[in-house]
Parts: sequence; C-alpha cells; structure tokens
Amino acid sequence: MAIAEDLEVAAFLKGQPKKLLIGGRWADAADGKTFETVDPATGEVLARVAEAGAEDIDRAVAAARKSFDRGTWRDLPPAERAKVLWKIGDMIEDRANEFAQLETLDNGMPINDALLFHAPIAAATFRYYAGWVTKLDGATQQVSLPGRYLSYTLREPVGVVGQIIPWNFPLLMAAWKLAPALACGNSVVLKPSEETPLSALLLAELIQQAEVPDGVVNVVPGFGEVAGSRLAHHPDVDKIAFTGSTEVGKIVTRASADSNLKRVSLELGGKSPNIVFADADLARAVSGAFFGIFFNQGQVCSAGSRLYVQKKVYDHALDELLKTVEETRIGPGIDPVTQMGPLVSKTQMERVLGYIAVGNQEGARLMAGGGRPEGLDGGYFVKPTVFADVDGKMRIAREEIFGPVVSAIPFQDEEDLVAKANDTMYGLVAGVWTKDVARAHRVAHALKAGTVYVNCYHVVDPVTPWGGFKQSGWGRELGPYALDLYTELKNVIVDIA
Ligand code: NAD
Repeated sequence: MAIAEDLEVAAFLKGQPKKLLIGGRWADAADGKTFETVDPATGEVLARVAEAGAEDIDRAVAAARKSFDRGTWRDLPPAERAKVLWKIGDMIEDRANEFAQLETLDNGMPINDALLFHAPIAAATFRYYAGWVTKLDGATQQVSLPGRYLSYTLREPVGVVGQIIPWNFPLLMAAWKLAPALACGNSVVLKPSEETPLSALLLAELIQQAEVPDGVVNVVPGFGEVAGSRLAHHPDVDKIAFTGSTEVGKIVTRASADSNLKRVSLELGGKSPNIVFADADLARAVSGAFFGIFFNQGQVCSAGSRLYVQKKVYDHALDELLKTVEETRIGPGIDPVTQMGPLVSKTQMERVLGYIAVGNQEGARLMAGGGRPEGLDGGYFVKPTVFADVDGKMRIAREEIFGPVVSAIPFQDEEDLVAKANDTMYGLVAGVWTKDVARAHRVAHALKAGTVYVNCYHVVDPVTPWGGFKQSGWGRELGPYALDLYTELKNVIVDIA
C-alpha cells in the first residue's frame, strides 16, 4: 500500500518486515515467518511483520530471565529507573503524531481520538508510574509474641512477566502493561495482537532509545494460539498479565495451572449497562449514551452496549439518540473529520454483522444502522446500529458484540433496573445518568461493576483503578493497584531480643 509520504510515520513503515525485539536486538523469527497487517479502512496490506513462534518466545523469555537475574534493571537506583520511565513518557508525547497515525492505519480508529486520547494517556501512564518507582515502600508490623521481633515487608518484582494484549487500543494497552511492570523492576515479554502489532514496535524503539537495558523489554508480535499460548504455558514466566476476551482469559488461566501456576491477572470482556433515569439531563445523557457505545466503533471492553432508559423518557431519549446517530460521519480514520472509522478486520466486521442478523431474528426493533455504509466497500465499516425494545434474554443483550451495536431496554423503577443491569456474567463498568445525588450513590453501590460512571462515561486516567467484577477479570490495573499485580510481598522477621 502507498502510504502518503507527508505522514510522519512513513519512515517507520518503510523498514519492512518489522522485526521482533529480543534481548536488545531486532531479530527475524527463527523460522523466518512473517505476517501481514492490514489497513482496515481499505483492506490493503499496511506492513509485514516478523511472526514470533514458540522458539522466539523461548528466546525472549530467556533474554528477560537473564536481564532479571543479572539485576540490570531492578537493581538500578529507583530514581534512575524513574527517570527512564519519565523519559519514555516524554518521547511518546514528542512522537504523538506518529503514534496516532500508526494506531489509525493499523486499528482504524479516528485520528483525533488517537491523537487527543490514546497517545497522551499512554505518555501520562509512563509518567504516573515513574512517580511510583521511589515509593515502593514496605511496612512494619507490631508483633505481640513473647520476646522482641522486628517484622517488616518488602515489595519485590515478580520476575519475568509475560504480557498479552488485544487490538482495540494497541498503544494504550501496551503502556498500561509495560509502565507498572517496569516501575516495579520486572523484565517483560510483551505480545501485541496479531491484528495491530505496529505501535508496540514503535514504542519498543523508544524504550531502547531511553536506554532500558537489553532484555528487560522484549516485544514479540505473533498469533495467539502459537506465541500467546507458548508464553502462557512457559515454565520460566513468573506472571502473565492478559487483556482480551473472557474466553481466551480462561485458556490463559488453564495454561498457568497446567504449567507453573504463574500469577495471572486478567482484564476481560464486558456488556456494560449505561442507565438513563427520567430525571437526568437528557441532552447530556443521550450524548453519553452515544459516546458510551460508539467510541472506537464500539470496540471497547467497557462499551455501554446495554442502554437502559426509564420508561417515562424512553421514546424521547431514543429519538434524540437516533438524530445523533444519523449525523455521524463515517469514513477512514485518517481523515480528520471522521467520527467513526472501520472495524479492525474483516473477521470482526462479519462477527458484528452476524450479531445484527441475530438481533433481527430475535425480534429486536432495528431503529438505525443494521449494515455496512454505502460507498466504503473496500474497508470494514459498519453503521452505528440501534436496537430498541430489546429483551434481557436476547443474545444481543447478553453477549459481547464488540462493535457499534447498542441494545436499548426500557425499565420501570430503580429496583427493576438494578436487577436487570446486574443480570450478566460481566461486571466491568456501568454508567448512571441522574440529577438525584442520593439515587446516584445508591445505584452505584448496588451495581456489580469495577467502575461506575455517574453523569459521565469512558473517563480513564492513570490514577483510577481499572478492572472487573465477575467474568470481566481478576485484579485491578492502573493507580497504585497495579503495583500489587507486579510485585511479590515478602515479610522479614528478625529476632532482636
Ligand atoms: P482475544 O482474547 O481474541 O485476544 C487477545 C490477545 O490474546 C491477543 O494478543 C491474542 O493473540 C491472544 N491470544 C489469542 N488466543 C490465545 C491463546 N490461546 N493463548 C494465549 N494468547 C492468546 O481478544 P481481542 O479480540 O484481541 O480483543 C477483544 C477482547 O478484549 C474483548 O473481549 C474486550 O472486551 C477485551 N478487552 C478487555 C479490556 C479490559 O481492560 N478489560 C480492554 C481491552 C479489550
């Protein structure tokens, strides 16, 4: 594919096939295999990338182990490690245009989202965890046994960490994984998604330039069933941090159990309720409902895909939502006026279209969208789709579609709502729109979700914990909570009598 020469990222894309970063060196796959990554706006090949196989994962894990055992990173003075992380944050900010272009070309997202949201938050995540490096303190315990003891805790890095990430927010997911793991002194093998490997490879270049010692960060794009599976089963990996579907999260957990019981943290799927009470500021609630589901073409783990609207305002709210949907500008993400880009791949587009067919068969009322837009045949576009009068038992209300499809469901009162909203195997986020402060807190307490947004949606900052109840995951990323994921707590007890 011809990449416009005036794009800053053209230089990065010229050197192909892109290689694996293993032990500080850029390497081809051991068996020489490569795979193609595609621009979903056109269906054309964007780049060729070395495809990590089991042997490459073994090499990357060995390099990570060597660097960890030698202490080249974890034993650096904390302030030195903090400086390096801060520098990576600065470098992401300096190269934000390139990152944004890569995210858009590889994933399809609108360029303004990539530029104003993804790149800045990725940079902020590195800076936030730079601040923690010098604050990984332990505690002392007041022992009551006879005699005298000094009892204190240390937070030590877990060791070699395998990180497996999805394609929906490639750069952001890499930053959320790498920054806290590095802050805690671990060595890492990162496997980006086979759909969107490029921004992690650019980040790997910056990490090298920031002088992270060789072998501390290894980046090995490859396929899930081969590279991901080997990493999850590897006996010398101490921890796996996984973000992706609930289905694969279970496979990764089994792999840990079947190998060395490595620590596992999981950020999985969702089917999040976005709830509009009759007393809400309706204009804001409707725009929050739109943003909640259609941001990133609905390919968001926390997408507000179940829209609950109180009966009194149900028809009005839907009318307003449909007006916004009709005005949405769909097109290639690289065009700055685009509000909704393509889905990430043909497979994903077909999956979403399949769910739309299911919704129609199940008898939900199709109010908008329902197919591909005209004139954009080369890419993997799906129109923003609204189903009304959805029953909570329908598959479109229960299964994660991971696309621009919202199921609107009316509710009577608070009690009815809470039961309906919690009737799901997931528990990642929920949104509540109301002017009644007491109700907002009551409902926030009653909902089983890792994050509850009140009169807002998709507000994410490195300081706010991120993770899910129920089958949406194990553990919390971001904030100080991620430090628990990437450290082992050691207790030292000294007899000082
Ligand atoms: P996926 O589960 O198919 O793949 C995720 C990653 O796992 C990819 O890197 C893939 O190569 C790898 N993988 C696939 N099979 C594997 C196996 N057998 N062993 C080891 N690794 C394997 O998910 P996806 O389609 O890339 O992403 C979409 C999913 O991710 C959605 O379910 C979404 O909700 C979830 N997600 C969750 C969060 C969160 O923070 N909770 C964030 C983003 C995405």
